[in-house]
Amino acid sequence: MLADNYAWILHNGVDAAVVDPGDAEPVLRFLERVKLRLSHVFITHHHADHCAGAVELKRAFGCPVIGPDDVRVPYVDHAVRDYGGFSVLSESLQVMATPGHTMTHVIFHFPNLRAIFTGDTLFCGGCGRILEGTPAVMLQSLIKCIGVEDITSVYCGHEYTEENLLFATTVEPDNKDVWQRLADVKYLQRRNLPTVPSTIAVERATNPFLRTGSPELRKKLGMQSATGVDVFAELRKRKDRF
Ligand SMILES: [Zn+2]
Repeated sequence: MLADNYAWILHNGVDAAVVDPGDAEPVLRFLERVKLRLSHVFITHHHADHCAGAVELKRAFGCPVIGPDDVRVPYVDHAVRDYGGFSVLSESLQVMATPGHTMTHVIFHFPNLRAIFTGDTLFCGGCGRILEGTPAVMLQSLIKCIGVEDITSVYCGHEYTEENLLFATTVEPDNKDVWQRLADVKYLQRRNLPTVPSTIAVERATNPFLRTGSPELRKKLGMQSATGVDVFAELRKRKDRF
């Protein structure tokens, strides 16, 4: 939806939950078409392209909004940080606080579904800009994200994968997995197909922001003996200019 945002819908055939509705209209249209009733709205962070549709959906279905503990989203019914006690559509849900892109950013992990909704923290092939945190805080949040099982599917908030992987080839030009993934992603994009979700395993192998320990990457940046945080900060700086 919008230019390059993703909202995600989970359902059990009757009830549905939506993650990051930046716009209510396409969500309402989809739910109407497949005859689902909305039971939960999830929001990862306060940016309008992730939550602008929440109030209208809440009004239409009378369902609760679960999201960050932040005055900038006053209509949130259940404000969450790190929390493991939820059950949604009979599936257990673990909320993780992942500050960095914004200070109150949260992500939603469904361990039994092996799915994680990462908003603007972890992207496929990249990560969000650091708008409110520090590189150290953001890196810590990314490490937390990838602490889940390797086969977990990564559902992020934007279709940025191709550009992210193009950047990855500049900092790890000998990483064959990056080039293969870029080719796969180009194939999908040419056919107007989504490149999301990926998996945690794929991200570990190809996402430069998760690879601050890679000897090739460190050599390319001339930072062989730097700390992981310094390598991460340099990567983020370069990507911001890319
Ligand atoms: Zn954002």
